[in-house]
Amino acid sequence: MKYETDASKIENTPKEGDLYKVVTTFGKSFELRYGFYEERDRLSPLCEPAIIYPDFIREPLFTETGEPFVTMMQDACGHYKGNTKRTPDSTCAECKHFSQGEEWFGVCTCKARKTTETP
Ligand code: SF4
Repeated sequence: MKYETDASKIENTPKEGDLYKVVTTFGKSFELRYGFYEERDRLSPLCEPAIIYPDFIREPLFTETGEPFVTMMQDACGHYKGNTKRTPDSTCAECKHFSQGEEWFGVCTCKARKTTETP
C-alpha cells in the first residue's frame, strides 16, 4: 500500500520557537512565537505548536497611560461587565471594558483596573 504525503504541508508546519509575527499595539511591541502552553501538549504527537500570547495575568503590563494589557482569551476578572453573567468560561473579549488592538491583543478600560503608578 502506498501512502501519499503532502510535503508542502509538512514543510510549512511551524516549529517551536519559530517567529509568527511582531505585533505593535497600544504603544508596545510583542514578538509572537510558536510554542506550547502546556508541557503535555509538547509531549503529545497530536499537538502542533500554537501561537503563544503573553500571560498578562501572571505578568501584568500597562500602557503609557496606565491601562492593563489583556488578551481576548484571558479569563475575565471580577470587574467583568458583559451582556451575560460572568462564568468560568467568560473572557475579556466579551467584556464591555475590552478595547481591541491588533490580533488578539487589547487593553482594559475599566477605571478600577487602571494603574496610577508609573508603568
Ligand atoms: S476587560 Fe478588564 S474588566 Fe473586563 S474582564 Fe477583562 S480585565 Fe476584567
